[in-house]
Amino acid sequence: MKQYITCSALSRVETCPASAVLQPIRVENPAATVPSAGHYLLCRRAESHSYDVSVSEIDDVAIRYELSPIETAVLAARIRGFRWVPPEGAEPEVAFAIDHNMNVVKVPAKDAKPGNYNVPEGYWLAGTADLTWRDATVRWLADYKYGNDAWVSSIETNPQAWSLAYMASKYYGDESFIPAIIYLWKGIPLGIWETPAGAPFSLLSDRAIAFVDRLARLRDTIDKVRGEAEAGRDVVRWVTAGYHCVYCPAIISCPYYLSFVRSMAFEPKIQKGAKDREPLTAEEASLLARHLSALEKAGRTVRELLKGYCQHNGRIQISDTLAWGPHPGDTTESIVSSRQTWEIVNKHLGENAVWESIKFRKGELFEGAKVRALIGNVPSTHISRPLMQELKEAGCVQFEVPIEHGLYRTDVEPEE
Ligand code: SF4
Repeated sequence: MKQYITCSALSRVETCPASAVLQPIRVENPAATVPSAGHYLLCRRAESHSYDVSVSEIDDVAIRYELSPIETAVLAARIRGFRWVPPEGAEPEVAFAIDHNMNVVKVPAKDAKPGNYNVPEGYWLAGTADLTWRDATVRWLADYKYGNDAWVSSIETNPQAWSLAYMASKYYGDESFIPAIIYLWKGIPLGIWETPAGAPFSLLSDRAIAFVDRLARLRDTIDKVRGEAEAGRDVVRWVTAGYHCVYCPAIISCPYYLSFVRSMAFEPKIQKGAKDREPLTAEEASLLARHLSALEKAGRTVRELLKGYCQHNGRIQISDTLAWGPHPGDTTESIVSSRQTWEIVNKHLGENAVWESIKFRKGELFEGAKVRALIGNVPSTHISRPLMQELKEAGCVQFEVPIEHGLYRTDVEPEE
């Protein structure tokens, strides 16, 4: 069992202490590749204190992260759009850990992977400051956010930004600190910065002391839950589900979700066909809406695990005639990810559409066409047809039989 938790998990663990000790299952998350590559570039920019160096290195970064041409173009657009250059002396990617007595050390990252630290024995919390610098006597801590802010807790109480700011100022011996969250894609060119009201805070201020008390309470709770788990006791009483479950690596070993899925599977309203389905009550709707993202994430995780299993063991035979595994799907038209596609889509849908269509799926392009049609007050086919026509003529559409993973009948030969 890992003996420390990360600052990014603080918010979740505070609400659901069991998530610190339940068995985590991690799978690759390709959706995180563009933000990770962007983060890497921003770090390079911070090291050189130069706006241009990081941009000129985009192609190298694309190779390193295996980005498609279109992802590279999107990344370039986003990084170019964000023009803030960190001040002289700013340090990117600095990892800290804190022990039971709230002593702070700097820790080297293991394998240069964020979230993977060489944390000394006895340290219970570790995290990486995206960027930190000193301005006179004030320690700044900036946490970059790349996408949906619906999951980010307010900077007034955000435990990730506060714990890292506290650790950084304590480690460097600064008098006061400012935790900041920078939403770099929301407010081009400088991003949107959020800092708590009343900042900077002295380490001896009421707010700093209250935050350290909060950390200490959490540390004690985690110790207690870990002790119970190690003694073989059920930790279900420490489980609290909510929005935070979306990023929980323990979701598919979570007792709450296992019983939730089981109860949903036998729920007549969910099982019945759409025609005779009774409407959900407000309470049921609220429950399902609250858990949908987490359930979808659990489903994606399970799918990745099954795919991994099939890679090594072949298909999973479920009955005499039914299996789960890779099999040919229906022939589809797919859009080639290329610079030419990018240019044609830009021409028809406008530059902003590209931000929504990193992968250039047909459905997304049609959605983009609908938006343009609304703006231009024309039927959406007036936009989508010429767009698809030009893509086809330019060879940017290809036909393929995709290999899908899922249930299929083994007693039916696939059609030629
Ligand atoms: S999935 Fe949610 S309820 Fe379950 S352990 Fe994780 S955070 Fe807790």
